[in-house]
Amino acid sequence: MLNELVPCPLSLHPLIADPSATKHILRRFKLRAVKGLGQNFLIDAQIVRRIVEAAEISPGEDVLEIGAGIGSLTQGLLEAGANVTAIELDKKLPAVLKETLAGYENFRLIEGDVLKINLSELMPKAFKVAANLPYYITTQILLALLEKNLPVTKIVTMVQREVAERMTAVPNSKIYGALSVAVRLRSQPRIAFDVEPKSFLPPPEITSSVVVCDVRKPPFEIVDEEFFTKVVRAAFAQRRKTLLNSLTASGFNREKILTSGIDSSLRAENLSLEDFAKLSAALKS
Ligand code: SAM
Repeated sequence: MLNELVPCPLSLHPLIADPSATKHILRRFKLRAVKGLGQNFLIDAQIVRRIVEAAEISPGEDVLEIGAGIGSLTQGLLEAGANVTAIELDKKLPAVLKETLAGYENFRLIEGDVLKINLSELMPKAFKVAANLPYYITTQILLALLEKNLPVTKIVTMVQREVAERMTAVPNSKIYGALSVAVRLRSQPRIAFDVEPKSFLPPPEITSSVVVCDVRKPPFEIVDEEFFTKVVRAAFAQRRKTLLNSLTASGFNREKILTSGIDSSLRAENLSLEDFAKLSAALKS
């Protein structure tokens, strides 16, 4: 039945990222997009192509996709020759994917919640991430990918435009926060392009953006990464307050803050990554 649909440009597989194909698949499996799971399926083959291009995939490369949906992006990654491991939480979708991605050999589906799966065990060798993330847990997923020292080399994700701006924000701006620090500490992020609501079914209420993060080691030594993260989060917890006030409110030692070498009358948003590293080293001592 699916074979009646438009074939992929370079293969004989029916194209999934297409409005009528997606409607057809949903109807056929008696499915509706589940809002609570952040289901906005890509129906725009050009956007799939641009995400795959942004991921710079070489044939045979391992790619982790978070939230396969009905396989729209997965198909683009598979057509580029990637070995795709896709995680999907919705129990109704494996049966759909079995049919929509039938015939692709380099595909493995893991059923479950990405936040509960041990990603180091799942992806032990160098891999890239390509995903149209479920918006309700975007930040947790990004932090799980960045803070666990996984062998990930590149993360290409569709997120809400506002999250993309926070991910790529620099110091001294109102949107620079704990997420910006986490992302910039471990990667070089850039917004690749914006995506209009009409590229999805159902269309979300907001514009989305695709962000590319080239993952790298922190540019300087962080004495204790977990402690560093605690300091950053505490500093931004009350972002309108001075560092002295926000950090003492979270129980950090006043004397150590005052002698850290960082001006404690500043706000968290004024600190560079290196300032945070210096501050956390002083607080840890
Ligand atoms: N990749 C597909 C596409 O581009 O059309 C679907 C993207 S949709 C925005 C997000 C997908 O993530 C949905 O299929 C949803 O069921 C799945 N999802 C939601 N929460 C998840 C979780 N905790 N773990 C794994 N997948 C999840």
